[in-house]
Amino acid sequence: MKQLDRAPAQDDASFAELKDEIAAFVAGPAEEWAQRIERDRSVPAELWDDLRARGYLSLAAPPAYGGRGIPFTRYLELMELFSMSHASIRMIVHVVNGTWRAMDRYASDDQLRRFIIPSIKGEVKIAFTLTEPTAGTGADLRCSVEREGDTYFLSGDKHLITFGTICDYWLLFARRAGTRGADGTVALLVARDAPGATVQPMEESMGVRGTDHARLHFERTPVPVANRLGGEGQGLDVALGGFLTPSRISVAMSCVGLARRAHELAIAYAKRRETFGKTLTQRQAIRFMIAENATDIEAARQLVLHAAREWEAAGSSAAALSSMAKLHAVEMLTRVTDKALQIHGGTGFWQPNAIERVYRDARAQRFEEGTNEIQKTVIARELLGGG
Ligand SMILES: Cc1cc2nc3c(=O)[nH]c(=O)nc-3n(C[C@H](O)[C@H](O)[C@H](O)COP(=O)(O)OP(=O)(O)OC[C@H]3O[C@@H](n4cnc5c(N)ncnc54)[C@H](O)[C@@H]3O)c2cc1C
Repeated sequence: MKQLDRAPAQDDASFAELKDEIAAFVAGPAEEWAQRIERDRSVPAELWDDLRARGYLSLAAPPAYGGRGIPFTRYLELMELFSMSHASIRMIVHVVNGTWRAMDRYASDDQLRRFIIPSIKGEVKIAFTLTEPTAGTGADLRCSVEREGDTYFLSGDKHLITFGTICDYWLLFARRAGTRGADGTVALLVARDAPGATVQPMEESMGVRGTDHARLHFERTPVPVANRLGGEGQGLDVALGGFLTPSRISVAMSCVGLARRAHELAIAYAKRRETFGKTLTQRQAIRFMIAENATDIEAARQLVLHAAREWEAAGSSAAALSSMAKLHAVEMLTRVTDKALQIHGGTGFWQPNAIERVYRDARAQRFEEGTNEIQKTVIARELLGGG
């Protein structure tokens, strides 16, 4: 396993400049992208180009791979900012800055050159392809492969796959036919144009509007064995192993950023809206909601950063803390967005009010990197063992 996560820290001044630059992007160009996405209900290819040109797809990767090597806790400060913009922008930044981590731990030099570095450069799009319509997430996996010489033949179904229609490769998890549990699981990079693969866009979603999601069917799709990351039996390690902890922490910080956006929108509205001759900010009921939201957000941010520091220090409680951070942050986001919408009154329920979009986008976070039920299962297992 490679140890490239500890990249050299950037100096404080240049990091502060980068933060200011991203804050300005979020407040300016990202809002224009957001309006375009909401209007057209699709993410234009030019948005990917813009994010790539600004260097926002290679923030977290190590310099050896062409990345900027921003240390993880600092990268999270940037993720908080990106999460204040449209959920589809946040999704691209989060996925591209994270997927290399899952692959890197098992990639050969050849795979590093063919998949990881081009992905960090934004030249190749990779979709994380785990969820199945007829199986639970993880060891329940049903997509299967049969090996003939240097080729696997892949059969089965996947769905809800982000970037699944526009990607160049699916980072797909399957198992050798006839195996059970983690045994025989494989992680494969399957080319988007491989024969025997049927790709269907999912219907429109409640939030994260514009991002494509795919339903996939494979019928003896040939995949070179050379496109397998790690060995047979390591598929679930690639999908759910050490990669998941930082990714959960990053999603938890996304909740903090989105909650902060809701909070700021609520404050701005409360300052300008007058009822019975007073602004809403002069009403104790509203002031209390704003105070509760500020407290909730700050508590979640500190737990997320604590989990991040524990992971950076390779601490033994990093896995449990990452699930605690995700669970707590997503519950916080639900509370904060609900109150923020309430402060907006009835108009908040209508488009194009930004809080309407934020409220819808917030709901998606309850699924990303594991539901609350799964986080609780992880925390309990860390505390109590297998039981
Ligand atoms: C916007 C969005 C983007 C997504 N992008 C991707 C992607 O790019 N790639 C990908 O692979 N997947 C993706 N997903 C799928 C997502 O990871 C799953 O929806 C999520 O993990 C839940 O799995 P499921 O939908 O199969 O729900 P199910 O497993 O059917 O679960 C249904 C309910 O039962 C609970 N449950 C299930 N099993 C247990 C258990 N053992 N114990 C207790 N409770 C349980 C769950 O918590 C949930 O509340 C995406 C989903 C969304 C909403």
